[in-house]
Amino acid sequence: SEEIKKEDDLLAEIEESEKESAIIENLQYQTEVTRLMDIIVNSLYTHKDVFLRELISNAADALEKIRFIAVSDESALDEEKKLEIRISANKNKNILSITDTGVGMTKDDLITNLGTIAKSGTSNFLEAISKSGGDMSLIGQFGVGFYSAFLVADKVVVYTKHNSDDQYVWESTADAKFSIYKDPRGNTLKRGTRISLHLKEDATNLLNDKKLMDLVAKYCQFIQYPIYLLHETV
Ligand code: ADP
Ligand code: MG
Repeated sequence: SEEIKKEDDLLAEIEESEKESAIIENLQYQTEVTRLMDIIVNSLYTHKDVFLRELISNAADALEKIRFIAVSDESALDEEKKLEIRISANKNKNILSITDTGVGMTKDDLITNLGTIAKSGTSNFLEAISKSGGDMSLIGQFGVGFYSAFLVADKVVVYTKHNSDDQYVWESTADAKFSIYKDPRGNTLKRGTRISLHLKEDATNLLNDKKLMDLVAKYCQFIQYPIYLLHETV
């Protein structure tokens, strides 16, 4: 709907010039994560489209968390009552983003969840894909589904707002490091997370509405929250 579209437009991507006033921390991925990223980014795998299932399932998990918190503390929903997922395609910038109004992540959550904590499943996953002849659809089973974003994107930016912290930005171009900074624009999200995928050249077909609809129908049929598909007109 128009209203949702307007809200989504307000969450425009951060520009390089807007980052000038930010204090940017550069961090190293945990070694196993670096290995995983190398494999995800550089190789030819099948089932690349599973990135959408993984990101949508993370969004649904985050919505489930805030819904659960709100059972005992209604005020947890004060900043944002809606519980939903939005997928938007920006054809000018070649960015596909997935936004949820879930629990969000604090700065510390970002650092631990997306990069620095060793994931026990990493080695097992690497073994499993080599045995399966490169079937990426296995990724979610090993607790590293987030990194499937790099199957289709060469840069990933995560904007996130948790009730008990300011909005933070995480970004990575899939080399051995990632950076984190407080969003100099303030809180563009009321609560939740937006994952922006700067698509690889060979993945821009994902911006096609029909293709997106098909993927949502294929991978997201059991999601318990509304999923809106938006497309940019400018
Ligand atoms: P898993 O979902 O199996 O834990 P992932 O690699 O998919 O593994 O995600 C890693 C972690 O990052 C999640 O456990 C969660 O803590 C955090 N995370 C990822 N996406 C989101 C999101 N949209 N909202 C909040 N937290 C998220
Ligand atoms: Mg996951």
